Amino acid sequence: SVKANGRNGLQLFSQEMAQRSMQHFTMEANLRNAIERNELSLHYQPKVDVISGSMMGMEALLRWHQPQLGAVSPAKFIPLAEETGLIEQIDQWVIDSACAQIRHWLEKGAYPVPVAINISPISLRHRKLTRLIKKALERHQVPASLLQIEITESAFIDDMDCVIMQLQTLKEIGISIALDDFGTGYSSLSYLAKLPLDELKIDASFIHNVPDCETSDTLIRAITGIAKNLNLKVVVEGVETNEQLSYVEELVCDQVQGYLTGRPAAASVIETNFAK
Ligand code: C2E
Ligand code: MG
Ligand code: MG
Ligand code: MG
Repeated sequence: SVKANGRNGLQLFSQEMAQRSMQHFTMEANLRNAIERNELSLHYQPKVDVISGSMMGMEALLRWHQPQLGAVSPAKFIPLAEETGLIEQIDQWVIDSACAQIRHWLEKGAYPVPVAINISPISLRHRKLTRLIKKALERHQVPASLLQIEITESAFIDDMDCVIMQLQTLKEIGISIALDDFGTGYSSLSYLAKLPLDELKIDASFIHNVPDCETSDTLIRAITGIAKNLNLKVVVEGVETNEQLSYVEELVCDQVQGYLTGRPAAASVIETNFAK
């Protein structure tokens, strides 16, 4: 406790706090300029058919290379962007860049598969999002069927009705919707019935725990069973080993996404490594 550590303990603590908020502040200032300084990019990770091994889709994952800090993980800067409101600009950048890339691949006659983008729960609360997405599709002349949206369950905590409306609009346009990281956080089976979903992505923690953990094994089988009965496509995230892939092959699931079948990589690297 603070008392046990005495005055110095308390001082150390506040110094550390101050340092941390300074880092936070510096990172925010840097993130504010990241777009215009061209520091953001998208990497793409293949989603692969379990049976045929073909690439059925890709997920676009945001990368930030900050000259002083180096590569900053989205797990760090996305929450910061959400806190500071910068997420709006970032979403817009991601939507636009993904559509530009899809257009580029269309012109090359390569990869006629959907590219998924992650949309922050914060952005889903604003109607503007659907308009932004529609505009980007038009601007780049990209068919809606080539775009997918990944959302997480935390999107439904405060305003579920608004989120459902937005998702329905997107779905009407022809965009498919995936529920990401399923089984963690605020999971509720009732979402599966209420939301206009096409795909369920099972959080990587499940596959990392099987086959040793019996509970994970039971849960992953139950979840894939329910999802299939609801006609959802099932993707297992985080497959890293052949052992895990063999395990997945016995599940009722469609696709895997993980380091084993392809790490997230720049578009040019995808073009080198994957057949069109
Ligand atoms: P996510 O959407 O669940 O993305 C999957 C994460 O798992 C990615 O981390 C990916 O690199 C990582 N991954 C893929 N295969 C494996 C594997 O086999 N093993 C392990 N250990 N990890 C694997 P990443 O790129 O660091 O992104 C982290 C999270 O940041 C994403 O989780 C997503 O929630 C968020 N994020 C990334 N890009 C964006 C974006 O453009 N917009 C928003 N709003 N969020 C984003
Ligand atoms: Mg995702
Ligand atoms: Mg995920
Ligand atoms: Mg995640």
